Amino acid sequence: MAPPVFRFAPSPNGLLHLGHAYSALLNFDRARETGGRLLLRIEDIDATRCRPEFETAIDEDLAWLGIAWETPVRRQSEHLSDYRAALERLSALGLVYPAFESRAEIARLVDAREADGLWPRDPDGAPLYPGDAKSLPADERARLIDTGVPYALRLDMAAACQRVAGLTWNELGEGPDGEHGLVPARPEAWGDVIVARKETPTSYHLSVVVDDALQGVSEVVRGQDLFHATSVHCLLQVLLGLPHPVYRHHALIRDGEGRKLSKSSRSTGLRELRNAGISPAGIRRLVGLG
Ligand code: GLU
Repeated sequence: MAPPVFRFAPSPNGLLHLGHAYSALLNFDRARETGGRLLLRIEDIDATRCRPEFETAIDEDLAWLGIAWETPVRRQSEHLSDYRAALERLSALGLVYPAFESRAEIARLVDAREADGLWPRDPDGAPLYPGDAKSLPADERARLIDTGVPYALRLDMAAACQRVAGLTWNELGEGPDGEHGLVPARPEAWGDVIVARKETPTSYHLSVVVDDALQGVSEVVRGQDLFHATSVHCLLQVLLGLPHPVYRHHALIRDGEGRKLSKSSRSTGLRELRNAGISPAGIRRLVGLG
């Protein structure tokens, strides 16, 4: 049997903190325990926020922690044609549509909907897409595209869910409410998610699913903040004919006030801790892997 494949997939938009160290070490340890392979994937599709110097820092910090990974490293920005091919497949199924609203227009639409009553939010707390681009007449769509109005591509969630019933994933870890084992996917809770942004021919959801499949990832070990997004990932896997990995979501490392760590919180940055004289073994102890 082929060895299991794990991946750590950071975005180079800041320095790593203890939460990343925990996730990377869990992946590394699982790969070692199982005789598996560990890949590093650089999720750099957001050109406005990602910087090469953060990628260099990621390599240095992971190596300092004693983590080894396979090369070459996959950098998402170098594989846009793979995401385009997936978009074409979704498009051929009639499951995506262009949405032309700006962020400000979306915010106004949400305000208007909220004035009429409660407007639903996704599991991350963001309002669902409030627009009606899905029902724009074809000639109006074509006119807007011809005039060069930028657009995102959204998944027609209702149509997508109609094709796929009874979707579940195998959770080896734990969701925020203790979910474990066969977890029912609820992609509809996310509304018409973006699958391609105005400035990039992909989105987080699409590229993560395409890459996990292309790289043969068999077990996804990542933070519980991505637990609910797994519903969208499972749906896209079925629509695109890709295999489902198993998932192992882990608890998040929190600061003294119980808040999720962010790349800007200095006290828990790996660089700061290292400069303060903490060793890699000390980092393991701090995240409970001592
Ligand atoms: N790039 C994502 C992040 O840094 C992680 C993606 C994933 O593990 O699925 O939060």
